[in-house]
Amino acid sequence: MEEKPAAPPRIRVLISEDQIRERVGELGRQIRADYGDRPIYLIAILKGACIFLSDLARAIPGPVRFDFMGISSYGRGKTSSGEVKVTKDLDLSLEGADVLIVEDIVDTGVTLTYLAHVLQQRRPRSIQIAALLDKPSRRLRPVQVRYVGFTIPDEFVVGFGLDFADDYRNLRDVCVIEE
Ligand code: 5GP
Repeated sequence: MEEKPAAPPRIRVLISEDQIRERVGELGRQIRADYGDRPIYLIAILKGACIFLSDLARAIPGPVRFDFMGISSYGRGKTSSGEVKVTKDLDLSLEGADVLIVEDIVDTGVTLTYLAHVLQQRRPRSIQIAALLDKPSRRLRPVQVRYVGFTIPDEFVVGFGLDFADDYRNLRDVCVIEE
């Protein structure tokens, strides 16, 4: 018997492109007000944070530099396994810099706890975190996220840079895949 093709997944918009644009604009203005006229070093984690970074960098008036770091948490799928390693390092020196880590989503907090520890050893002037999304109900490690775009419930989201098995990153909204 011929196999039926799998039905395409149903996708529900959780946060729209317009809501994201407005909130990123607010964050950009707030961040500049907090840092005065000092240069801000945005450090984005590949690949999910790239789209948030490109919008946030343009929403912050004044001097901004950015660089990328690759991090992999061992294991695949919808949860992080708790172990993290650096797969691509920065080109910029962070000594004396005001560093703002740019993350797509904070879930258990394992990734950011590790990254903040790694970057702290490079003797920046300050380190803060900006995350587009926060799922506080899933936290395993305490993380101070200074700038949060949206707090969301415990649902697996895709779009605006976030993937499922490397798909869906190009969706313009943050979406939930219905099971
Ligand atoms: P944490 O270390 O805080 O548990 O995980 C952070 C990373 O897990 C994020 O940068 C992201 O790559 C992934 N992650 C956590 N929750 C989600 C989610 O709902 N959707 C997607 N696509 N990735 C997620």
